[in-house]
Amino acid sequence: MKILVPIKRVVDYNVKIRVKSDQTGVDLANVKMSMNPFDEIAVEEAIRLKEAGKATEVIAVSIGVQQTTETIRTALAMGADRGILVKTDETVEPLNVAKILKAIAEEEKPDLIILGKQAIDDDCNQTGQMLAAILGWAQGTFASKVELEGGKLKLTREIDGGLQTLMLSMPAVVTTDLRLNEPRYASLPNIMKAKKKPIDEKSPSDYGVDVKARLEVLKVTEPPQRQAGIKVESVEQLVSKLKEAGVIG
Ligand code: AMP
Repeated sequence: MKILVPIKRVVDYNVKIRVKSDQTGVDLANVKMSMNPFDEIAVEEAIRLKEAGKATEVIAVSIGVQQTTETIRTALAMGADRGILVKTDETVEPLNVAKILKAIAEEEKPDLIILGKQAIDDDCNQTGQMLAAILGWAQGTFASKVELEGGKLKLTREIDGGLQTLMLSMPAVVTTDLRLNEPRYASLPNIMKAKKKPIDEKSPSDYGVDVKARLEVLKVTEPPQRQAGIKVESVEQLVSKLKEAGVIG
């Protein structure tokens, strides 16, 4: 079984986001970038399937600027076998990402594609669903457990108020939820080994995809500043303030 794992380079989740003063987007100058956390979970799941003898090859693919190679190297250090960088300086919208991934899937013929459920920069939560649709493959989103059973994929999904279990025929597209696993840190020897693993460099036009944006961002703004609270002198004052605010009767 061959597994394709699409990974996105995003602003690190610990970074305090700064909006550009002209409101055209987020300031990326001198900002730490990392692999999208849900994609780390996807890489981990693919590697675990390989370690369990159920997968033969794990390919990490990313669409982005040249520095995205570093993100692919992280996936290789975690245990992926090889990488594909589809290099572009454009911001690529989910539908175009899905079109490029479809072309790669047709070339590589994976049995399974595991994506993150959403990228923490655009919060789109679209790419996996679009990819499954245009490939015509089965899809299982927000997976919290993935098991192979008789050539099929048994998938547990987190839904409102409970869990849903699905049986998917392969090839399939799966997207990861937070509780699927805890991604490993790459060890130093594996970081060294990853330097020798191959990364193919391609461009969107190699896959016949025009990445021109269809959406126009009108503006990006900071969330409103929180109002400062007040200090109360006593429990009685607290109770009367809560009554005034209608929080208690
Ligand atoms: P989104 O639909 O933008 O929230 O992204 C969902 C998932 O699609 C991510 O977690 C990645 O697995 C994948 N993805 C999105 N953008 C890219 C990209 N530029 N390169 C590779 N994978 C991506």
